[in-house]
Amino acid sequence: MTRTTADVTFLRGYNQGLVMAVGRTARTFERSTVVHATGLTPQAVSKVIARLVADGLIRSAGVRRAAVGKPAVVYELVPDSRYAIGAHVARRTLRLVLVDLAGTVRHSTVSPLPSDFTPEQLLRTLKSGIDTITGGNDVRGRLTGVGLGMIGPLDHEHGLIRDAHGLRHWHDVPLREITEAYLGLPVHLDKDVAAGITAEAWRHGATFGDTALIMVESGIGGGFWLGGGAHRGAHTNAGEFGHTVVDLDGPLCVCGRHGCLEIVHNQAADAGNIPRAARVLAIGVVNLLQTLDLAHVVLAGADLLRHGDTYLAEVERAVRADARRRDWLSTDVTLSSLGADAIAAGAAMQVLDQHYGIPGLARLGHSPGAGLSRSPGAAVEPPASETGTSPLDGDAQEASTRVPEVQPAAVVAGGRPLAQRE
Ligand SMILES: [Zn+2]
Repeated sequence: MTRTTADVTFLRGYNQGLVMAVGRTARTFERSTVVHATGLTPQAVSKVIARLVADGLIRSAGVRRAAVGKPAVVYELVPDSRYAIGAHVARRTLRLVLVDLAGTVRHSTVSPLPSDFTPEQLLRTLKSGIDTITGGNDVRGRLTGVGLGMIGPLDHEHGLIRDAHGLRHWHDVPLREITEAYLGLPVHLDKDVAAGITAEAWRHGATFGDTALIMVESGIGGGFWLGGGAHRGAHTNAGEFGHTVVDLDGPLCVCGRHGCLEIVHNQAADAGNIPRAARVLAIGVVNLLQTLDLAHVVLAGADLLRHGDTYLAEVERAVRADARRRDWLSTDVTLSSLGADAIAAGAAMQVLDQHYGIPGLARLGHSPGAGLSRSPGAAVEPPASETGTSPLDGDAQEASTRVPEVQPAAVVAGGRPLAQRE
C-alpha cells in the first residue's frame, strides 16, 4: 500500500537522524552506543549505519577490544563530508561562515553592505561571498544549504522579511524563496537572535536551561531558548526586545513608538556614555527576568562586546540588586563565547540540524556500552574494513558492557531538527 511505503520511508529518514545526532555529538561511537541512546533495535541500527557509511557521512575508525567478549567496531563522523553556509545579515555588513558537519567553523569572511541595501544588492554580495568561501572547489558539491540570520521583523515560517527596521527596501520580501532561486541551494531564514541562541545551545549542550541571548549590534534584539528549544512566538517574530518601552516620554524610535530600550540605549552609546547605555540595557534585562525567570543571560553583538566588561558588570549588578531572593533566584550572566561569528555559525547549524538532527534524545552515555571518544580507556585499533556492517557488530553490546561508564556527553540541543523545536 502507498501509505505503508510512505511510512517506511519516513521511518528510515527519522532513524538516520537519530544515528546522525549520536555521531554529531559523540564523534566516535559503536553500534551499542546508538542502541542505548536511541532505543532502536541492533538490527535497525546496523542497517542505518551501513547506509550512512555508504553515503560517506560516517566511517569505521577501528575496532575496540574489551577484556571480555568480542571486539566492537568504532565509527566516527566524517566532518568534511557535508558543509553548510551561515550568513549574518546586519545593517552594514554580511558575515559568512563555512561550517562542517561537526559544527566547526572552517572559514569566515565579512563583506560591507551598501547603506540601505536592497534585496538585489544582498543577493549579489551573498553569492560572491559564497563563491569566495567555498573556493570554487568541490566543497560546493557537499553543501547542504545556506542559513540566513537577519534583522527583523520577519516571518521565519514563510521565509519573509516583514519590515526590517531601518532598511527601506525590505517590506514583505520573500527572501528565502528568492535566495533559493538565486543560489540554487536550500535556504533557511531566521532572525539573527534565534540563530545566535541556537549556536549558544550547541555550545552548552542538553543541560542548557531557559536563556536569553541579548544582542547589541546596530539594534538590540533578544533570542530566547525556552523549554528546550528556540522560542519564536505565535508569528515567529519573537525577539524585538529593543522595542520594549523604558521611558514613556523618551525619544521617537525607528519603530514609531517613543522611549524604546533601543533608542534610549543608542542615544547614550552614541554620546559616548557607555556606562549609561549599559544601565539602560540592564533595566531591560531585569524586566525580562521578571517576566520569564531565566537561568542564563548571554550578552552578545559587536557593539556590546567592544565594551564587554562594562556591560557585563552593569547587568550583573542590576540582576543582583533586583532579584530579591538570591537564595533561590539565581541567573548567570555571561558574555557570548562565540564572538563575532555567533549568528552566522548558528544559522549554519540550523541548516545542519534540519537535515541531520534528532528529536527528543536528551542524553547519551548514561548507559554502559558507550564507546565515546571522551572515554580515556577506549583503545581503538585501525580499521580492518571500511564497510559499516562488520560481523563484529553482532557482539558489540556484550563486549562493551565491560567498558567503564562514560561521562555523559549531552546530546547537543542543536542535534534536533528545527521542526521539532518550533
Ligand atoms: Zn522601537
